[in-house]
Amino acid sequence: MHEVEFAEKEISGSEDKILELMVSMESEEKSLKAAEIDLKAEAAAVEKEKNEARARTAEDEKLLQGLNQKRDGLRAGVSDTNLAHYDRVLRARKFAIAEARDSKCQACFVMIRPQTWQELTTNEQIITCSSCGRILFYDPTHEPALPPDAAPKKKKARATQSENQSENQAEAEPAPESTPAQ
Ligand SMILES: [Zn+2]
Repeated sequence: MHEVEFAEKEISGSEDKILELMVSMESEEKSLKAAEIDLKAEAAAVEKEKNEARARTAEDEKLLQGLNQKRDGLRAGVSDTNLAHYDRVLRARKFAIAEARDSKCQACFVMIRPQTWQELTTNEQIITCSSCGRILFYDPTHEPALPPDAAPKKKKARATQSENQSENQAEAEPAPESTPAQ
């Protein structure tokens, strides 16, 4: 009798354990499914990002190709000596062209001699910075506006007109020395 009772107790205990295991297995399966869904969503997002990056790369490559072609075309129009100088300065200094403003090279800020500055403002020949070697260019639109008392003498004839009017006039027809002959 005792043995039967004992065996029945054991059976009941085992059944409880089985039930417990089944419940925990069910919840594990649920979280596994949720993780699988998350993984799928993440994989899709990664794939989308990869596609976007590929498209961007293709676009950039196309752009680069166009720029390379443009550069080759532009280089064809420059003399070998100037190209060699440009390439040499580019290798040494990362960029080979600098603006000349306020009588200074805007890359190394060394003063430009007055005569060189005069030549530069015509933009008719290639002039390099005596200090850093970069090819200088001059942009008249970057010049500071002349203070009223420093205006060219020929404007004196219009001094009787209102200041506004003479300013407009000065903008409409720039002084002859700042417009290179076409
Ligand atoms: Zn310089």
